Amino acid sequence: MARQLACPSCGAPLTIESAFTTLLVCSYCGASLNIRDTGVDITGKSAKLADYPSRFSIGAAGKVKGRGFQVLGRVRYNNYDGFWDEWFLEFSDHQVGWITEDEGDLTLVFKSKLTFPVPPYEQMRVSTFIPFGNGRLFLSEKGEASVAGAQGEISLNIPPGKAIRYVDGNMANKAFRLVIDDNGIVLYTGEPLEFNDVTIANSE
Ligand SMILES: [Zn+2]
Repeated sequence: MARQLACPSCGAPLTIESAFTTLLVCSYCGASLNIRDTGVDITGKSAKLADYPSRFSIGAAGKVKGRGFQVLGRVRYNNYDGFWDEWFLEFSDHQVGWITEDEGDLTLVFKSKLTFPVPPYEQMRVSTFIPFGNGRLFLSEKGEASVAGAQGEISLNIPPGKAIRYVDGNMANKAFRLVIDDNGIVLYTGEPLEFNDVTIANSE
């Protein structure tokens, strides 16, 4: 199912592994490419991400709670007190998801459909509950972040440099994040992971 293409900026041969991929960063020239059914266009250049110690890397294979995956890409967000990385995974059944890595804390995250209204960002207060579907979501954090850069291929329509607003909360042992930008609100549902829930295969 992989697709081949030539980088429209430098001509390098590139491969897209997942049908869900919408953004690809050329590993040769750093061009950030918007992937559409109708073609590929250059949306900018991604900054090279400084490496911090992590078990994850692009191309690495591993398992999370026994389920096999391959790491296809990464996006890094900056906020007022630092940064966090989100690793884009393709599972062996071709489903895709993310593992967020924030100072060593890992969360397995899937994009979900937001099927009910939520209060406006300005009205959501940290340390309070908001009505959330059939339950109540406890809000633990809200803030603004921007995409510092990306690597590999990801399923995300936020180009590098773009600002987002996010709200984090939890309900019934699950973590929820609302990401708000000009395109609307996207809901991500997550499950905190213990260190040993993830294994990475040796590539050598
Ligand atoms: Zn290129």
